[in-house]
This record gives sequence, structure tokens and C-alpha cells, in this order.
Amino acid sequence: MTHSVTVRVPAKVNVQLAVGAPRPDGFHDLANVFLAVGMYDEVTVTPADALRVTCSGPDAASVPLDGTNLAARAATALAARYGIAPDVHLHIDKDIPVAGGMAGGSADGAAALLACDALWNTGASREELLAICAELGSDVPFSLIGGAALGVGRGERLSPVDVGGTFHWVFAVADGGLSTPAVYGEFDRLTAGTEVPQPAASAGLLSALRTGDTAALADTLSNDLQAAALSLRPSLADTLAAGTAAGALAALVSGSGPTTAFLVSDEESARKVADALLSSGTCRSARAAVSPAPGATLQRP
Ligand code: ATP
Repeated sequence: MTHSVTVRVPAKVNVQLAVGAPRPDGFHDLANVFLAVGMYDEVTVTPADALRVTCSGPDAASVPLDGTNLAARAATALAARYGIAPDVHLHIDKDIPVAGGMAGGSADGAAALLACDALWNTGASREELLAICAELGSDVPFSLIGGAALGVGRGERLSPVDVGGTFHWVFAVADGGLSTPAVYGEFDRLTAGTEVPQPAASAGLLSALRTGDTAALADTLSNDLQAAALSLRPSLADTLAAGTAAGALAALVSGSGPTTAFLVSDEESARKVADALLSSGTCRSARAAVSPAPGATLQRP
């Protein structure tokens, strides 16, 4: 019998994304508060003759199946560290929107790493797995740990954040993606010649998460990349307005976009806002999800 391992991994929304001026290395210092949301990809790893990647799901056609796929890169990185041949079939069952600012690729990287680690029984510590995640990309460590966390530096130096309740969201998925480097480039263009403050976590936002206070979270959500995403994709303003008009407590671009996130009071409001967004014609789909969600998790057969 061929042994397979499946890992489920959540999407994320940035409830705060504070962005500093570009550093000499081109990266930006961030204060990035990640919250995992209950929208999941599943990565299944099975021994094979050679490394290959397949993908299913509504956005499967936009996912690269070569060595650039983050799941393949994760398998290769772990195999190299332990002197193992990365001969596995990685299947991604993709439900997280692609290039939507919800860290879908990063999620698959973290999931593949955990799945291969279990398949190969490497005995790697959690710290080692997190270090490999950080090499793969700045959002990957968070996909492994889930829940909520504050990322500083490039966003990869993580500390967990307490969440004292359940938050309800609607995510509006736009047609086409936005490239994260292009959005940072636009941020640099829009802020050129201005004094960009050093990014810092908002005490009010951390307290809203800790106490599970939806209204307080609505008042403190922020995304410094929002103006840049709107500048590259002005139609997102119509999506934000449609969700707010339907009763969302707050609306913001998720990460580098173009997915937009709407914080709502409860499940019923989520249904209403999702229906209104769909009928507004300003997005491709609208989906409800709750947070926090656990990080990458092995699925028992
Ligand atoms: P982030 O929120 O971390 O900025 P994102 O959600 O905007 O990321 P992803 O869905 O991670 O974007 O995809 C960004 C690009 O990464 C895709 O256009 C694709 O070319 C590439 N990519 C590599 N591996 C994957 C993967 N497993 N799933 C989706 N995209 C991948």
C-alpha cells in the first residue's frame, strides 16, 4: 500500500499591515498582524518516481506546476537538508484564491513541508521547520502556526497574538490577481518624498483581538498597502463600497489585494453582505469565513 499524508492549511487576512520606507536591500520593514481564516487548501504527498505537482479546484489553472510552486520548493528544501531524494507527488486541492493577498502559495509551502516531514519521518524540530518556512517566503511561517501573530522585520519574525473570540468575515474575490512586488512598487511611488513612519503594531488592535471585540477590531483594522492596491485597481473601491453599504462593520483590501475583506457582526450579516457583493457585480465571488483558524494540520486518514 502506498502511504500518503494530507495536511490542511488556512488562508490569512492581515488585520494590520503597517509598511515602512524601503530598506537598502529593497525590502520594507513591517508590522504585520496576521489572522488565519477558515478557508483551506489541502496538500497530499505520496511517494513517486520523481517530484511532481498537480492541482485541483476552481483556480487550479493559474497555479504553476513546476519547481517554482511553493509546495515543490518546500519539499526540495526539506529533502536537501536531510539528504533525501524529493521523489513525491504533491497534490494541492486549492480553495484559497490565487494571487489574492490571502497567502495561498505560502499556505501550500507550509502544508507541503509538514506533510513531507511526516512522510519522511525526519524528526525535524518545530524551530527547524519554521526556519525552512522563513527561507521560502515571509508569509510561510505564519501558515504553519496559524491563529494570530505579529510579524516584524520583513514580517517573518513572528510572535503569537492571543485571540479571545470568533470573528466573522466575508471575502470578495476579484477577477485576476495583483502582483505583490507591483503593489510594493506602487507604495514606494506613492510615498516617495514623504516621511514614512517606522511601522508599529497598534495596541488598540491587539487588545480588540485579545478581547474578541468585533466593533473595536472594525475601528482599528488598517492596511498601508490599500492605497497602492486601489491605485493599481481603482475598481476595488466599488467592491469596498458595496460591502459597506450592505452592513459590513469595516472593509479593507486583504494584504496586497485584490481580495477585499469585510468584517461583519455574525453569520447572518455575513450571508447578507456576501449576497449583496455578488449581486453588485463588483467581484467574481464572495465567501464567508470565520477566524481564528488553526495552522497547518495533519489530517488523520
Ligand atoms: P501573499 O498574500 O502571500 O502576497 P497571494 O495570496 O497574493 O500571496 P498566491 O496565491 O500565494 O498570492 O500566489 C502568488 C503567485 O505565486 C502566483 O501567481 C503563482 O505564480 C505563485 N505560486 C507558487 N506556488 C503557488 C501555489 N502553491 N499556489 C498558488 N500560487 C503559487
